[in-house]
Amino acid sequence: MAVTKILLFYQFTPLADPQAVRLWQRDLCELLGLRGRILISKDGINGTVGGELPAVKAYRRKTLQYAPFAGMDVKWSEGSGLDGDGRSLDFPRLSVKVRDEIVSFGAPGELTVDGGGVVGGGTPLSPDAVHALIEDRGDDVVFFDGRNAFEAEIGRFRNAVVPDAATTRDLVGELDSGRYDHLKDRPVVTYCTGGVRCEVLSSLMVARGFQEVYQIDGGIVRYGERFGNDGLWEGSLYVFDGRESMDLGPDAAVIGTCAACGAASSRMTNCADDACRRRVVECEECAVARERITCGPHPHAAGSSSQA
Ligand SMILES: [Zn+2]
Ligand SMILES: [Zn+2]
Repeated sequence: MAVTKILLFYQFTPLADPQAVRLWQRDLCELLGLRGRILISKDGINGTVGGELPAVKAYRRKTLQYAPFAGMDVKWSEGSGLDGDGRSLDFPRLSVKVRDEIVSFGAPGELTVDGGGVVGGGTPLSPDAVHALIEDRGDDVVFFDGRNAFEAEIGRFRNAVVPDAATTRDLVGELDSGRYDHLKDRPVVTYCTGGVRCEVLSSLMVARGFQEVYQIDGGIVRYGERFGNDGLWEGSLYVFDGRESMDLGPDAAVIGTCAACGAASSRMTNCADDACRRRVVECEECAVARERITCGPHPHAAGSSSQA
């Protein structure tokens, strides 16, 4: 079976002509037979693509030849193989789009990007530097989850604060709610899958008066490459492709609980309410039994039963 890989990457950098970059990236991916999702804005690029190893390697090489992307940090992970058309099983199609933001916080006006990346963001920490900070400052250090709350249900850093966010857009309101103001004087380490959401989140936090904001360089993926399941991470890592989740190494803890029966599980499914974009933990047995599970007492599903 063909070896397939998935790349996860982003670069905050001013792009004078995002549409031209879109056309180039779309042509490049089509030529190489890659699938995935790429967002481009005047502030940079954010994407994940999958395909056969030689094609993915060629994509990385050609993309980094473009000067604004030359320093881009690209993370690799294992793909699930190819379908009958020779395309990555992990993505349904190729999508390359220009948007106002490469991560949808709904706050494009708040972000400033220059040749060095996001201006006024948190201090990047390597995985080892995260551990050094905790050795130094102990329990004063707070992990702050920069993802959607459902992602944290199957994996998160030990004792992390998990904002009540159904989508990334909710994070701005969460910060403005005052709910986390007690953390403003403490060392806060933001984290997300590959680091891109924390670039924006940490800058929003700094702008709102958080005094000591850090972000894990390369996110959970890079942390996992260094420490696997032997560090401060607990559970599995939710991913936005056909794999649904990945483990940072062997013997990952199972911290999710099935919303229907309470069994331990890292398996996720869509909320049974079609209008809802949250996902819920559902164990294999409840999936087979076709339980209808919503993500909680449900604003979108008046009258329908909630089993959470
Ligand atoms: Zn169950
Ligand atoms: Zn729901």
